[in-house]
Amino acid sequence: MNRRHVLGALGTATSLGTLAYATRDPVDTLEIRLWLSERAATYGTARRRVLEYLGRLLDFEFWTVDVSLGGTISVSTEDGALVTSSGEWPLAVTSGTVGPGDIEPASDVNLLVTDGQMRRAPTGYGLPHVASVGGARYLDSLEPFDDLVGTGADGDVERSIVPVRTPTRTMQVLLHEIGHALGLHHDHGVAFRYGDAVVATPMISTYAFDPTYDVDRSRCGTGFATLDDHERRLSLAFSRCARRELRTYTGGIGPRRTIGE
Ligand SMILES: [Zn+2]
Repeated sequence: MNRRHVLGALGTATSLGTLAYATRDPVDTLEIRLWLSERAATYGTARRRVLEYLGRLLDFEFWTVDVSLGGTISVSTEDGALVTSSGEWPLAVTSGTVGPGDIEPASDVNLLVTDGQMRRAPTGYGLPHVASVGGARYLDSLEPFDDLVGTGADGDVERSIVPVRTPTRTMQVLLHEIGHALGLHHDHGVAFRYGDAVVATPMISTYAFDPTYDVDRSRCGTGFATLDDHERRLSLAFSRCARRELRTYTGGIGPRRTIGE
């Protein structure tokens, strides 16, 4: 996907409306709010899994993570990438309204989960403080975090290594787009050897398994493991390089204040 092109177009087309960028230093509490499209909302377990996984996977020593449920909203497309790249979801967040419902934005990440397809990229999209992903039906079938990560996959919560399946891949794309919403880039990810497998972390994701993708090391300088004929697995845990960047995050959005007020 050509992110730079779309970002350029959005940058000129979308204003922040009634919100303004804020600097918060330090960020003691990371605020993430989850919204669901009307179709995504029909999957009862999906929202529980998202709240649960984000609460575990973004819980770092440098902040407290506060993941809350925003509600169900009406959007014109279930396409998990297009709903953001078209400007629809970012505009809903920044103007505070979408359809008949009101949006109370979270300071850090406003995540929309839709029932969009997860076969062909792009399946999600992330912009500063705004992210979306499809695949609600797959998130709905994901095991509880402790069943998948805590006891399975070598019981290694630190690395949170999981098999490549559509539900696990959907959760990884969700984390990937949240990473973008918090200022991370693809080269904050790594691909590392773990036993006989090559494991891709959320920011590099399955690009690590694409022979035409020419990045071979993270921006922190860690070389990627070569795939050869190794088994492919996913890590749901952000790499050390990504965590180092998140530690320096000082962003946020909040109500616009009139100067001189
Ligand atoms: Zn990306």
